[in-house]
Amino acid sequence: MGEAPHLTFNLDTPGVSTGHLVVPRGVDCEALSLPVFSCNRGEGPRLLITGGNHGNELEGPIVARRLADWLPEAQTCGRVIILPELNPLAVQAWTRTTPVDGKNLNRVFPGRFDGSVTERIVDAVLRLLLPMADTVFDLHSFGPTWDFPPAVITHPIADADLMAKTLRMAEAFKLPVTLLWEYYDTDVMFDAWVHRQGKVFVCAEFGGGTVGSEALGIYEAGVRNALIALGLVEGTAESPIFRQQKSNQTLETLLSDLLKSPARGIFEPRCSVLDKVQQGDLIGILRPMESLSTGSIDICAPTTSIVCGIRSGGYVNADDELAYLARPRNLS
Ligand SMILES: [Zn+2]
Repeated sequence: MGEAPHLTFNLDTPGVSTGHLVVPRGVDCEALSLPVFSCNRGEGPRLLITGGNHGNELEGPIVARRLADWLPEAQTCGRVIILPELNPLAVQAWTRTTPVDGKNLNRVFPGRFDGSVTERIVDAVLRLLLPMADTVFDLHSFGPTWDFPPAVITHPIADADLMAKTLRMAEAFKLPVTLLWEYYDTDVMFDAWVHRQGKVFVCAEFGGGTVGSEALGIYEAGVRNALIALGLVEGTAESPIFRQQKSNQTLETLLSDLLKSPARGIFEPRCSVLDKVQQGDLIGILRPMESLSTGSIDICAPTTSIVCGIRSGGYVNADDELAYLARPRNLS
């Protein structure tokens, strides 16, 4: 192990500056230089925006770059640090995990100084960038195998005050869905690590296949709304239009709302995101393909709910996720 993780520039420099976060080399690969943007307008909220946590979710890096284009003109106070690609190795390979060590960056927090490259990236970000922020937006998307509405997500947080603050932040994006998402594995995820420090962390998600202009516009509008709510930029927040509708709803999904595949095959969706379904309604059909004598399997809604996410591509194995159902928060 050679040098320590470091920044090639001083984040305290007033105004706009750019440079790199250097992740030291290790036994598995050379040092990495991750581009970092900083706009320091003095006193005020301190925000860190990250994209490219998962390499096959390109909306985050694109929107991060778009923000860096207009923030210098728009930002009136506080500090914004943008790291468009948390995991450039995965982004370049367009894979969810890092090709070098096979790790999912969002499952190795808090990382390790002397670990594999994914762990070293996380360690460097937590040492050098996270201390400079009180709020974090991590820009994800569901990728090409899901249909998912533009959403801001938080997992449940034990601290009630932080939970309320985080939900308010999430709702300030004014995206079609704010989702309180019960999930497993959260201890080793970015959000849990930030929440443990009492800081606000929200995660933007978006599905729908390929990266498209409309999706990017909605995504960017959501982040702009959040920057207005924080007081970092001036302007009026506006709810973006998604599939001909303006709507903001806060939903909740529990582990028991996740529908998994009973077998291998192709999943045929029979409803769309944000559809309301009653108990027994058809969500989709699992089509086993090994033999035409094997019957197709109906996947039905176990309870009255709203379809929040639905598998829209990719061959599925038994136990793979097919749909996330949800319901209005506080009405369960
Ligand atoms: Zn992701």
